Amino acid sequence: MIDSAAEVRRKLKALAGAKPVGGAFLTATLSTSRLDDWRLSAPSFLHSEFNRRTQEDGTSRSDKRLLQSDLDYVLEVVSYEITPRTQGLALFVDDRGGHSERIELPFRLLNRLVMEPSAYIRPVAHALSLLEPFVIARVSRDESSLLLVDEWGVAQEDDVAGPWLRWSDRETGEVSIKEYFAAARQDELVELHYKEVGATLAKLLEASQARRVVVCAPHEIATNFRRALAQPLAGHVVAEISFDAAASASQMVANARQAVEQARNREMAALAARIKEGLSREGRGVSGFDDVLGALTRHQLQVLLVDRNYRVPGWTCAGCGWAGLSEVETCPTCGGCPAHLDDAVGEIVRLAILQGCQLEVGENIPVLEELGGVAGLLRYS
Ligand SMILES: [Zn+2]
Repeated sequence: MIDSAAEVRRKLKALAGAKPVGGAFLTATLSTSRLDDWRLSAPSFLHSEFNRRTQEDGTSRSDKRLLQSDLDYVLEVVSYEITPRTQGLALFVDDRGGHSERIELPFRLLNRLVMEPSAYIRPVAHALSLLEPFVIARVSRDESSLLLVDEWGVAQEDDVAGPWLRWSDRETGEVSIKEYFAAARQDELVELHYKEVGATLAKLLEASQARRVVVCAPHEIATNFRRALAQPLAGHVVAEISFDAAASASQMVANARQAVEQARNREMAALAARIKEGLSREGRGVSGFDDVLGALTRHQLQVLLVDRNYRVPGWTCAGCGWAGLSEVETCPTCGGCPAHLDDAVGEIVRLAILQGCQLEVGENIPVLEELGGVAGLLRYS
């Protein structure tokens, strides 16, 4: 079954705190898109990755046996029926510890098998923060509609008829074309209509997870509509797309999604700049792997900003939770035996989710690269 974004968030938080009974949690992410021949390719991918990894890591026989039963669970799920619309499947297993979580998603995930001391939740967490729900306000002078778009597409549509259309419907049931256009040109009525659309929009934002709004209208109408909105509502409008009567609904949604992504990335660039400004001793900014991890360890981080493509290998200690980028023989904190991490930034993302920090993901942001690919804002300076 495909989960709602809220349900995925809940599962990720629980997984972030889950500790395996053996040495490792097994995480598998798979693309299950119908475009791939995934039912044939997934089992052989999983087997060969499993063998390669356990050999490279020198996994002990007893640990390998535990992991083998986790892998068997994954193979069993893969051979079951997966919801046809599912494009990405994530499985997090520690059979002995009683953990087996399954998340089906409406977007593809890279094929990956990870066996590490914690569940590797970063790919799903990224996907969630990038595919946020948003609202398209399709506005005209006398008849508008608000579309709530989630990961899947249009989830809800609210139509708002202008005052003239409403009155004429009620009283006469019909309107002559001439009267219709005469009324539609009356600015007062148009203004009233914009205000009503605004009120419906405010309610929709309050009732949904959506934070960003894209206006779809001819430019002049979009400008007047935005002017009619009060703050803070106007601040939610992040982009305008032009109205194209010939475009299909799905094309409009795709254009709007792209506009939201661009707006989001601009905001992330601004966030990175704010963090950079706050790097002084008195500021709230923190940057680079070690400092961000340090802030998390002290429970001081409020916002985590990571570069989507920044992955770096590292080490972690299952005993005390220490993590670092340089190879060590024994854990510098407790003397335990450290485990190798393919992606040490995944550990930072996991801790951030466990602590309820706001997770933001950026891509191609020069300032973020300058900050070392991972940065954040502290709760207090
Ligand atoms: Zn340790």
